[in-house]
Amino acid sequence: MYLTDREAKALIIDVGRKMHEGGFVTANDGNITVRVGDDEVWATPTGVNKGDLTEDKLLRVRISDGAVLEGAWKPTSELGMHLNVYRTDGEVVSTAHAHPLYLTALACAGIELDLASTPAAACISGRVPVVPYCCSGSQELAKSIIPYVKDYHVVNLGNHGPLAWGKTPNEAWFNLEDAEACAHLAFLILELKRFRPLNREQVATLHAFHHIRMTEAGTVNLLDSQANQEPAITFSEYLRQQMGD
Ligand SMILES: [Zn+2]
Repeated sequence: MYLTDREAKALIIDVGRKMHEGGFVTANDGNITVRVGDDEVWATPTGVNKGDLTEDKLLRVRISDGAVLEGAWKPTSELGMHLNVYRTDGEVVSTAHAHPLYLTALACAGIELDLASTPAAACISGRVPVVPYCCSGSQELAKSIIPYVKDYHVVNLGNHGPLAWGKTPNEAWFNLEDAEACAHLAFLILELKRFRPLNREQVATLHAFHHIRMTEAGTVNLLDSQANQEPAITFSEYLRQQMGD
């Protein structure tokens, strides 16, 4: 059920490149881990741009005590935070942390992302809570995420940025990428000042149809509005409303 060492390393290098190319990281930001056994993950090293990862820079690490089993580089200083995700939920197979700008803006503002904007928002990342600030790389930060692991797919570390996890090798990255797209979308919705959310029933139908298991806490904000069943207005009409004539 786990990826082989070779597959896990190739995936980490691929996700690192996507993070770099997608503007999710600058300098040596971000970390990625993928599980290859009940007590083992491959992880990124400290101090390397995620677009420049190569197999020899990656480390095989024991989940239970954080010991480096293979690899010459020094592991990321955020390793403890990633390992705590695996220690808290035995079903997790991947984790990813980066500093994409829209989610990081919400992390700095202390705004939880919860808009029922699209099926992806409702089904992939779900609600993204903000974890109270802790010093990066500290034991406090590593511990601070533990209460969130079972209920959420992504958390936003206060004044820092998102950490995502998943139950397939690709899922942590997909959850992270989706959450950032939803955060960007939320800023655009704010700019439009017009929003017709998916309602409670529509979200429940999506979850049932796509066999999504999401806790109540991890689910986006549910309203009873039927506004999205109303006809759309034209952009011309919208512009007239906005310009007040
Ligand atoms: Zn970070």
